[in-house]
Amino acid sequence: MVDITTLNGAYALVVVEIIQLCLFVAVLGVVSIVSVTAMRIVAGALLIADVVALYFMVAFGILLNQEMIANILNTDSGEVSALIDWKIFAWGTILGIMPALWFLRIKIAPTTVWRRLLIAPVALGVLAAVLALSPKTTNWIDKNGLDLGGRILPWSYVANTVRYFDQDHARYMRDQVQLPDPTVTPTGAGLVVLVIGESARPQSFAFYGYDRDTNPNTRATGYRALPASDACATATIGGVACILSRRGRDERQGVPEEPLPSYLTRQGIKTIVHSNNTGLPRLRVDAALVGSQLAEICTQEFCAERFDHSCVSGICDDIFPDGVLLSGVGDIAHSALTQPTLLVLHMGGSHGPNYFQKYPQKYAAFDPVCTDKFVSRCDTEQLKNAYDNTIVYTDAVLGELAHALGGVAGLKATVLYTSDHGESLGEDGYYAHAAPVASAPAYQLQVPFLVWQSDAARQAIVNAGVAAQDAIFHTVLGQFGLTQGGVYRAENDIFAAPN
Ligand SMILES: [Zn+2]
Repeated sequence: MVDITTLNGAYALVVVEIIQLCLFVAVLGVVSIVSVTAMRIVAGALLIADVVALYFMVAFGILLNQEMIANILNTDSGEVSALIDWKIFAWGTILGIMPALWFLRIKIAPTTVWRRLLIAPVALGVLAAVLALSPKTTNWIDKNGLDLGGRILPWSYVANTVRYFDQDHARYMRDQVQLPDPTVTPTGAGLVVLVIGESARPQSFAFYGYDRDTNPNTRATGYRALPASDACATATIGGVACILSRRGRDERQGVPEEPLPSYLTRQGIKTIVHSNNTGLPRLRVDAALVGSQLAEICTQEFCAERFDHSCVSGICDDIFPDGVLLSGVGDIAHSALTQPTLLVLHMGGSHGPNYFQKYPQKYAAFDPVCTDKFVSRCDTEQLKNAYDNTIVYTDAVLGELAHALGGVAGLKATVLYTSDHGESLGEDGYYAHAAPVASAPAYQLQVPFLVWQSDAARQAIVNAGVAAQDAIFHTVLGQFGLTQGGVYRAENDIFAAPN
């Protein structure tokens, strides 16, 4: 943060503004070589996009860094509609569309192409001179580059959108290197359920010392908590990729590889994915179902719980509580008595800013709750109440899962639960998640790690110190006995006895 009430801070701000202006003039100068009308259109379009971006930054306290762009581009319409209200249209019209129209009409004295050719070099020359004359400020900008890169409009979203398509999109949606096969086949039958949480922070779990009982159901059904650990990312795509990677937290240190569910499918394990969220890498599995499909196959009361179906101005939100993920779990458990099976449940979990809309009302253990999507305006206690209710509901889903699996006599079943990343609720002025990893607060970085096992599968945890996102891949392989050859690492398996 720069303190603009100090002389140095004000000076830094002026330098940043000059850099901004020079970059703008340079870009528009280049476009003007092609045509002055094109320059007017580009200036107007950038202005409108800037206003929309600024609205999201101010209202939700987010940075438009690469992870945030990835999240925005992979978010479904339900999540987007949660972020929009009438004020964005008011902002957009007054600060965006009206000045943009003015740009289109403003008189510009005719100039030759040769003079317009000079605009960009002159602007870049001024920029270079300013940077050379302010080494201290340039240092400061370097040091704060990650944060600034997500704040300065329009460069934040332009550059980070390009970087997303160059890196993330290619990384998670295209070619994946096939991992070497193990030299053994899966041993016996049994079920492993990997539950990937969303924005769940251990600081709000009773298991990790929180002074509210947010874990009544997991405790009653016999879940065990491993130590909280750092996630590899503060946004969904990165966090989920690490959970499903054999490299764990180092997922990015190398070429994209096939994720856990695809690998196990190739090893002959029946693999099913139930998702109430977005951001999974490309998977090749036996079956993948989303909320609306899961709602159709639900036959139990718990998965049938629905949010009040609401339609505003013709836009209906079709968001399902995470209970829907348990649709068909009974059948899957019974078939796992004879066939090794992996079930991945990707929760909607505790994604903000509308925490108060993420759980059926009967799970509202704490009130009053903040119902303002502009979380920075929420009373801290009311915001925590709403968030804690999402954790209580996640706890209920996990408890119900254990209950359902525990009822299948003789089933060897293991449930592993962790989160993609954590969440800030106003601590030190941070909200939500997606802060740059290098400077992210612990609230956004830490994740919980819970384990449940049926009586037939019960084992001692001997490797409790391994970080959740490093442990998942190898612990699941260990459960299926795929421990010889291939990519298994015993030191990352929480159940593997030390050599
Ligand atoms: Zn997430």
